Amino acid sequence: LATEEVVDADGPPSVIAIDVGGTSIKGAVVGPGAELLANLRVATPDDSEHALVEAILSVGGELLHRAERNGSTPRAVGLSAAGVIDELRGCARCGANLRWDDTPLAARVHEGLGMPATLVQDARAAAHGEAIFGAGRGAVSFVSIILGTGVGSAVVIDGRPLRGSHGLAGEIGHLQVDRHGLECGCGGRGCVETLAAASALSRRYAAETGEALPAEGVLERVTRGDPVAIRIWSDATAALASAIAAVVAVVDCELVVLGGGMAAAGSLLLADLRRELSARVPPLAPAPRLAVAALGNAAGVFGAAAAALGLLGRGDLVDRWHTLSIAEVIAADPFGANGNIH
Ligand SMILES: [Zn+2]
Repeated sequence: LATEEVVDADGPPSVIAIDVGGTSIKGAVVGPGAELLANLRVATPDDSEHALVEAILSVGGELLHRAERNGSTPRAVGLSAAGVIDELRGCARCGANLRWDDTPLAARVHEGLGMPATLVQDARAAAHGEAIFGAGRGAVSFVSIILGTGVGSAVVIDGRPLRGSHGLAGEIGHLQVDRHGLECGCGGRGCVETLAAASALSRRYAAETGEALPAEGVLERVTRGDPVAIRIWSDATAALASAIAAVVAVVDCELVVLGGGMAAAGSLLLADLRRELSARVPPLAPAPRLAVAALGNAAGVFGAAAAALGLLGRGDLVDRWHTLSIAEVIAADPFGANGNIH
């Protein structure tokens, strides 16, 4: 009986997915049905570009070895990386916490592991993971925002992250919301990131009170009625809401998925942001629903795996992932705090 299956002499491919973050490198071998065939997490070296690339190649090599031992042959590598990423050239240009130096990462990995590789910006990879398995599942259009050291974001339409002409679509972190505001690491002034990143809460609170607190500490002060903390928090949610309203106006998104350390503030973040948003979205656009990211650290790995399958022309396999249940993967959080660090 003839089927519409894509014929593949070696069977459907598995891929290697590697997510390079500021503190750890997470890697996995992912099978054609999204099976996690092996996974690995190591600390990110911070001493040199050479050490960083070597660590990525060593994670890839170890995963390849484990896959082959289990009778599987990965055929491509999907890389997700933090920093300023040029997806079109497969190049990691620079990073706040990573020693990128205009690093041609996709080419280095292709050469080192002997299979094609593709590089995706980490916020876009995580958004893709959330679209496939997480909080963004089923949404026609949503924006994913990661509030951490910076503000990373991406827009997903019909299950796929929007790339744009230069691979920068959906990045709201450096939209200016206050032209008289603080200088930003990007060279601009008053960017969303200078007010709404987790690091911005700590920095602003310390500047005003002389007290150094992590973002969670500032949020805890908000709940206790500290007027300085409340003002800083209100600036953060207002900046985010302004940027999200702009995204709503352009892509009519129905959902905002919030991830990163600050999403742990949960109900406080959702309630305050919801109020600020309803005052800002264009009159005919319903305010989007807000949700906390569901996949945690696994989102970037699955997004990278999907990119690798895309590189092999097997986006049809990824389309099928959208209907799978992977509750057990989410529950296990294989790359979370309890993951293996070697
Ligand atoms: Zn900026």
